[in-house]
Amino acid sequence: MPKKIIIAIDGPAGSGKSTAAKNIAQKLGFTYLDTGAMYRAITFIALRNGISDNIPAVISLAQSIDLKLKFENGITHVFLNNEEVTEQIRTAEVNAKVSEISKIPEVREELVKIQKRLGAEGHVVAEGRDVTTVVFPYADLKIYLTASIDTRARRRLKEFEEKNIRISFEDVKANLETRDKIDSSREVSPLKKADDAIEYDNSDVTPEQDFEYLLKKIKQVLSQK
Ligand code: C5P
Repeated sequence: MPKKIIIAIDGPAGSGKSTAAKNIAQKLGFTYLDTGAMYRAITFIALRNGISDNIPAVISLAQSIDLKLKFENGITHVFLNNEEVTEQIRTAEVNAKVSEISKIPEVREELVKIQKRLGAEGHVVAEGRDVTTVVFPYADLKIYLTASIDTRARRRLKEFEEKNIRISFEDVKANLETRDKIDSSREVSPLKKADDAIEYDNSDVTPEQDFEYLLKKIKQVLSQK
């Protein structure tokens, strides 16, 4: 391939972005960039340090932290100052706080810098809320994935059940609705469909069909490069 390819996927929580992006990265040998994991990591440390409501302290945390992602065997391993926090960033406590932390412009600025750097290193499949609009506006292919709220909540509930975490469907759904609302209405880098993104609602398709559809689109783009 003549140049570094960037595939960017945005969409609300539970829309299947991670599954699709991971599968694509594995299939094509691209780097998978889970930008949500970065916002989760900062949130986790802020909660653990008891500073999550202290905005200046959260900002200096984001500016000083050594954050590394390592994608191996389908899992994004997350390291903060060399401590692995892969599991800890996916709890209900982090879910409840992450959108508040993600609203802070200075936190976004720091993380976007890291994301752009990673994007410059090789072929990348990135997913998040602003990767098609802010982080990689020049991406080779932009996808906006979406699904109905009930479908998304069912998917997230299944993930919790697989980890033996007890939580109700209503609580999962309420958290998704709250996060969607904050993520789409914040002033800086809100979640929205980029004008040139392909919108795809996967409510009624299996992850395999989702993957096939996206792969077809990607192959079309790559064949024109
Ligand atoms: O993708 P995931 O659900 O793990 O993201 C967690 C949260 O991180 C989102 O609800 C959103 O508040 C924030 N986020 C963001 N921008 C991104 C990725 C995630 O604000 N690019």
